[in-house]
Amino acid sequence: MTETKSYDTIIIGAGIAGLSAALYAARQKLSTLVLSKDLGGQLTLTDLIENYPGIEATGGLNLAQKIEKQAKKFGAEFIYGEEVREIRQNGEDFIIKGIKGEYSGKTVILAFGKTPRELNVPGEHEFKGKGVSYCAICDAAFFKGKPAAVVGEGEPGIEAIELLSNYANPAYYITSSSQIVGEEEIVKRVISKPNVKIFNSSRVIEIRGNSKVEEIVIKQGNEIKSIKVDGVIIEMGYVLKTEFLKGFVELNDKGEVIVDELGRTSREGVFAAGDITQIPYKQAVIAAAEGVKAALSAYNYLRNKKGLPPVNVDWKAEKKKISFRL
Ligand SMILES: Cc1cc2nc3c(=O)[nH]c(=O)nc-3n(C[C@H](O)[C@H](O)[C@H](O)COP(=O)(O)OP(=O)(O)OC[C@H]3O[C@@H](n4cnc5c(N)ncnc54)[C@H](O)[C@@H]3O)c2cc1C
Repeated sequence: MTETKSYDTIIIGAGIAGLSAALYAARQKLSTLVLSKDLGGQLTLTDLIENYPGIEATGGLNLAQKIEKQAKKFGAEFIYGEEVREIRQNGEDFIIKGIKGEYSGKTVILAFGKTPRELNVPGEHEFKGKGVSYCAICDAAFFKGKPAAVVGEGEPGIEAIELLSNYANPAYYITSSSQIVGEEEIVKRVISKPNVKIFNSSRVIEIRGNSKVEEIVIKQGNEIKSIKVDGVIIEMGYVLKTEFLKGFVELNDKGEVIVDELGRTSREGVFAAGDITQIPYKQAVIAAAEGVKAALSAYNYLRNKKGLPPVNVDWKAEKKKISFRL
């Protein structure tokens, strides 16, 4: 029987938190494996980042690719298309189970951020990437001159329909609110556009098609209508998918992983960083810095286990809980 290699650290998520953690962990000569559904995470949902210190303006994916390249230079390994579903402790090691395989690590860094909220209606999963999108910035332009819809709420919804209305015709806005909610000026602009058709107090109950999206079925009051569209962009905000961590590490009532000032979770050897944690101001530079902290803490944890002194930190100081409620 071949024994599974036990990495010094396994990082879950290749958003900016996970990538920055990988760069630092690998540079500290920890054997480092990153498991992620994709490269870049939420960074790829914005066309331009203009507030990352030292970089005037860059595409989110470009920034992610640069950090990935840096991390690879120091030996970090990456597996993409992997979705972690389970983590358990086996003696001193952690066993991580994903849809592609099982991995073993001496430490784990949880950096799997946030995921777009789904509608959970028939057809949604079947047509993901075949007309169903969760990113107006990424995909609105594909619907130039074609009928398409945004299903959304609040600010993210109204911003998405404004963007889609620059391309699609008609551009439908399906929202469960009775009033169109959002910044006044944007609402005014959207309402006045002749190609925008609004269905308020409505929800999508099915997405239909053959090889790609062809229509959506909506319910407005008691009335059921079907609308021909080539695509539907879902902008319902983001959710944390941390249910499988319950009982493994401490979570707050929002499902965020609680970390201390060194990125340590309630379980020894498990660290967390970025949007998955309770640390406020969910921004790229903060996620990157927290990723670095988590990696350096994983490094010090391993040193401590070998009886070596920690570097640059009082490792044994009592864990200080940081709690925020914004
Ligand atoms: C539209 C938009 C615009 C933004 N604009 C800015 C901006 O201009 N400036 C700024 O500073 N911030 C901006 N942000 C916020 C910023 O992008 C986030 O705070 C930051 O990217 C969070 O990084 P993260 O690594 O913590 O998480 P994420 O970016 O969410 O990355 C998580 C990673 O984990 C992967 N993953 C998820 N679940 C699993 C799993 N179970 N198994 C394996 N992998 C998994 C995902 O595929 C992804 O790669 C924006 C966010 C959005 C949505």
